[in-house]
Amino acid sequence: MAGGHCLVAVSEASERVGDMSGTGTETGAAPARVVVIGAGIAGLAAAHRLLRRGARVTVLEAGDRVGGKLLPGEIAGVRVDLGAESLLARRPEAVGLAREAGLGDRLQPPATASASIWTRGALRPMPKGHVMGVPGTASAVAGVISDEGLERIEREAALPRTEVGDDVAVGTYVAERLGREVVDRLVEPLLGGVYAGDAYRISMRSAVPQLFEAARRHDSLTEAVRSLQAGAAAAPQTGPVFMGIEGGVGRLPLAVADAVRARGGEILTGTPVTELRREAGETWRIVAGDRVLHTDAVVVATPAPAAAALLAAESPGAAAELRQIEYASMALITLAYRRADAAALPEGSGFLVPPVDGRTIKAATFASRKWGWIADEDPDVVVVRTSVGRYGETEILGREDAELVELSRHDLREATGLDAAPLKTRVTRWSDGLPQYPVGHRARVVRVREHVAKLPGLAVCGAAYDGVGVPACIASAYAAVDQLGGDLRAVRQLTAHPVQSLHGGAGE
Ligand SMILES: Cc1cc2nc3c(=O)[nH]c(=O)nc-3n(C[C@H](O)[C@H](O)[C@H](O)COP(=O)(O)OP(=O)(O)OC[C@H]3O[C@@H](n4cnc5c(N)ncnc54)[C@H](O)[C@@H]3O)c2cc1C
Repeated sequence: MAGGHCLVAVSEASERVGDMSGTGTETGAAPARVVVIGAGIAGLAAAHRLLRRGARVTVLEAGDRVGGKLLPGEIAGVRVDLGAESLLARRPEAVGLAREAGLGDRLQPPATASASIWTRGALRPMPKGHVMGVPGTASAVAGVISDEGLERIEREAALPRTEVGDDVAVGTYVAERLGREVVDRLVEPLLGGVYAGDAYRISMRSAVPQLFEAARRHDSLTEAVRSLQAGAAAAPQTGPVFMGIEGGVGRLPLAVADAVRARGGEILTGTPVTELRREAGETWRIVAGDRVLHTDAVVVATPAPAAAALLAAESPGAAAELRQIEYASMALITLAYRRADAAALPEGSGFLVPPVDGRTIKAATFASRKWGWIADEDPDVVVVRTSVGRYGETEILGREDAELVELSRHDLREATGLDAAPLKTRVTRWSDGLPQYPVGHRARVVRVREHVAKLPGLAVCGAAYDGVGVPACIASAYAAVDQLGGDLRAVRQLTAHPVQSLHGGAGE
């Protein structure tokens, strides 16, 4: 970054928190002031990185706690996650942030990776050779798919090519190639586990981009899957695919918030932002309750509906696009059993349930089996977690907590034989928990960013954009910070003097 000396662009090595005076100092120009709206993992990751780059940061959070969809909790004296519980470790962002926030020695892979599918009346081992449920050969999914379904897969290679165009719904494309059974019994529950969505609406380009690209290159989908598998085999990745955090993934935002405060950042909870306006001098005016803040730059890290409301005045185009992004709601039912009562629980980390099987729950996680740290919390307690609610399924979420517990117990009994009364239960509702990525989502996000880019000093990030998983949310936060670095260089021209890094040299 030759010649760029604004404080937000200081090298990552710099530990210096910018001067608070707001005017030039002996070390150079005043630090850029940045307000981050939303203290979910995306907003906190953005704040953390902005501070490392020397900005002066305030985070405004509507709720009374930080973390958004990451929420640590407790049942029967055992710590558990009541929101997200697992981090994809094949991408660097989430485990990297955990390490930066001092949780490196708390990262823990799952104790077992063997899961099942509850379908056609039995728990069946989750097949291994597939990409998001799409097999490279029929034999890879034998056991889950019926004999007729397997024959249908075998005929796929002879079918004429199906064009994927700019985007296509995963379910539509896979059903056309391999038959509906593969979608209904494998793709749907696997995708549903991530998006709580509907495979026949979800964008293949956004949700399974590697499959989309492979399908573009190959006439046959099974051949495309085999080419991906061959590529993965040729360059095997080491280390666990997923990681948890001892004490819960919900500890991650708490640790990042601590790191933000330790670097001089300010986090205000119970402070919903209601107005965001651009003002003379290229700064931003933010109204949150009875506070009015003036700042050089803003990161909007809220879910899409809140982002749409905040951007309506200054970027009606972005707001109109964001309003189109729909969400799925869900509830998690956590049940704690005495170990002696839970003997019926099978081995493995849990099971997924295809909607086509007509059950109430969509998944069950045997939390004490999956995470060693939960088993260690109290060896006499076994924790199981079920989930209900998919995109468009509103009826089930209208039920009382006690009814959701009973429905979960019923399905657990049917699937595993676990019949005992739980010691304790907890229902956690996630209204509008997961954004939906239908066909065309990627193009919509490009349009949102084009609108936002017209307003220097404004960036957006979070689950609504580039992926709903925690690592993708963090990546979108880092991209937002990079964008602001460029904006502030261009607009504020904070180029008076280089900033000294702790490592002795000037900022890059
Ligand atoms: C039940 C559930 C389980 C999940 N499991 C996993 C998992 O195991 N692994 C995984 O990788 N992902 C999982 N996810 C997805 C992942 O947790 C989320 O996509 C991610 O945490 C979203 O982070 P975020 O910062 O974008 O948004 P959020 O967590 O939604 O944070 C946004 C914040 O903005 C605040 N806000 C909103 N409006 C305003 C306003 N006007 N002013 C100020 N603040 C405002 C909100 O209060 C909130 O705190 C799960 C999601 C859910 C719902």
